[in-house]
Amino acid sequence: MIVVNTVKRIYARGLGMQGKNTVLITREYGPKIRLGAVLTSAEIEPDDPFSGDLCGDCKRCIRTCPTKALKPREIAIKRCVVYALKGPELTDVYPDVRTLTEKFITRPTARSLIECTRCLDVCPIGRETHGRLPVHA
Ligand code: SF4
Ligand code: SF4
Repeated sequence: MIVVNTVKRIYARGLGMQGKNTVLITREYGPKIRLGAVLTSAEIEPDDPFSGDLCGDCKRCIRTCPTKALKPREIAIKRCVVYALKGPELTDVYPDVRTLTEKFITRPTARSLIECTRCLDVCPIGRETHGRLPVHA
């Protein structure tokens, strides 16, 4: 089995940086990306590591989190709605977070749900590329 820390490599190879919402953000798309990987033996010249700070003074993701799970580049996972959704049997979810969970998810049908993505939706990085997405700020 091969284990590759993709995110670490992505930071090192210049694709983006860790935003204050803790996820990878890129200049073009902000946090609204999906990662994939290709294993190859090809010799590929890596880009330089990412430099600069895309977040600057922005704190939108931290302010918008309904359960106060975020600090800059740090998440208290047991306060995150997405973690709470992993199952009602999880006993380490904060009671106030459990109470709020239904409020911050969407149920398009009786058997489906859309997780909380507020800390991604509010990010202004890449807004020009995907301006049609909803904003909860
Ligand atoms: S997914 Fe929702 S609850 Fe979790 S950190 Fe982001 S905004 Fe907060
Ligand atoms: S919302 Fe602002 S602080 Fe949060 S990741 Fe995006 S740019 Fe950074």
